Amino acid sequence: MRSITGRENVAEMCADLLQDESNLSGAWCEAAAWPENTDEARDYIRKCSKTGIKLTVSGALTGIAGGALPEGGEVISASALKDIRLLGNGNIAAGAGVTIEELNSFISANTDGFFYPPDTTEETASVGGTIATNASGADSFLYGSTRKWVEGLQIVLPSGVLLKIKRGMHMFENSTCTHPLLGIIQLPLLRIEQPPKNAAGYYIRPDMDLIDLFIGSEGTLGFIVEAELKLAPEPEYVIDLAVFPEKQESFWKLYDSLLDAPEPLRIRALEIMDDRCMDFLRSHPGELPLPPGNALFCLLLRAEADSDEHLEETLVMLDDMLVSSNSNPETAWGGFEPSERQRIKDFRHALPEAVNHCIAESRRKHPSIHKFGSDGAVELSRFKEYFVLVTGILEERGLPFVIFGHAGQGHIHANAMPEEPQQMLLAGEAMREIAAAAVEMGGTVSAEHGLGKLKLDYLKLMYSEEEIKGMETIKRDIDPDHMMN
Ligand SMILES: Cc1cc2nc3c(=O)[nH]c(=O)nc-3n(C[C@H](O)[C@H](O)[C@H](O)COP(=O)(O)OP(=O)(O)OC[C@H]3O[C@@H](n4cnc5c(N)ncnc54)[C@H](O)[C@@H]3O)c2cc1C
Repeated sequence: MRSITGRENVAEMCADLLQDESNLSGAWCEAAAWPENTDEARDYIRKCSKTGIKLTVSGALTGIAGGALPEGGEVISASALKDIRLLGNGNIAAGAGVTIEELNSFISANTDGFFYPPDTTEETASVGGTIATNASGADSFLYGSTRKWVEGLQIVLPSGVLLKIKRGMHMFENSTCTHPLLGIIQLPLLRIEQPPKNAAGYYIRPDMDLIDLFIGSEGTLGFIVEAELKLAPEPEYVIDLAVFPEKQESFWKLYDSLLDAPEPLRIRALEIMDDRCMDFLRSHPGELPLPPGNALFCLLLRAEADSDEHLEETLVMLDDMLVSSNSNPETAWGGFEPSERQRIKDFRHALPEAVNHCIAESRRKHPSIHKFGSDGAVELSRFKEYFVLVTGILEERGLPFVIFGHAGQGHIHANAMPEEPQQMLLAGEAMREIAAAAVEMGGTVSAEHGLGKLKLDYLKLMYSEEEIKGMETIKRDIDPDHMMN
């Protein structure tokens, strides 16, 4: 097993372990290890447990909330856990360090017509990291988040004991579950049920599966070494479209009709880019064509069809919907050919790339500057209201910003891009206000990125003291010495 000791050595030779996509600085640790199999992971964690060493769990470090950044202690990285195989039941067993890109390539090469649906955008993320954050993506509108596709987990607990858990094997009854290795686990009673798309706090449902407690627990309950993942049959056709309504009311009309799309239309993803995104892309041109001149918003949609006939019906229905919402089908981009789909994918990725580029420019002048991103989601019935409110909160403070995200799940990322150091405080305030507004509307402060270290404080916006204590009790029962993350 590769390992390194000494704070200076880690900083010099493995500086990448001390940075993720959260912009948090100041991470450090005394040592790091890269186990290559379950036994090595178990031995290492057992040694840390016996000697009282605090551990931070690291995946591919694409996280946006800083959960994988150490504040002392040692780091255990999953990145060398690369074993991957096809199981007899058609599922995939993947080591925690397998990236989503590697997983997808393996599936294409070894299965006939299947795919792994959680289309988490950043394909360099690891299987373990995406499970630990219950990551989701554009296709989560139809296919749900990572949780739904995890059938089994192997986790080294903070004590160094290996827990093998399969979906359906250990269920909570009235918020209590007894497990031979874990003892009695008691869930807190929540005043309000957690929203369907949520990555803030432990997953809590009175009659849930024990495996779901570990999914989305952000490395606080153990080190995931391997996962058994389910696949879905690939449909015959996938259609990607970028529609450019010229008026807000056209956007919302089209959005509403797609949300309730009747059979046989099968919508897989429903995404929004607001007017500021359009302006931003026009003023930061890359290699891609610019959005049409009159486009106010962009609605990105993905649909799927199982046959030629289904494809024909789908295209006719989409065309009708565009026309009846006054969105011109002639200005829409995309289709079902790979090149057309790739164009939409590139367009979708061009925005965050342009945002990052712009932040890098500002940082050259003022090194303390970084991007601020919201991750809240609300009930669909209040999504439009939330979107308007978020826009107002950022406008009020005179911050440069864009809003995009998963409209079909009431979930948006407002990206504030401070240009001057004085705007940093305002951006932080705005993000907190946006998070609080989401809770006020029955939603969550974080729908997919998790709270990590950056947003841990937001937990108090969403849960009462009593509820947080209940979650702390779960943590204490599984990790009595508060050893992990
Ligand atoms: C450009 C970009 C786009 C993104 N798009 C999306 C998106 O569409 N949807 C989305 O949900 N996220 C997105 N993210 C965020 C990020 O990719 C996800 O949070 C991802 O799940 C993190 O995986 P990772 O392997 O990089 O984990 P890390 O960043 O290394 O860690 C994240 C958390 O998981 C824990 N962890 C990691 N590995 C393990 C393990 N083996 N066992 C236990 N705990 C572990 C860490 O301790 C930490 O708390 C995006 C990020 C970027 C940079």
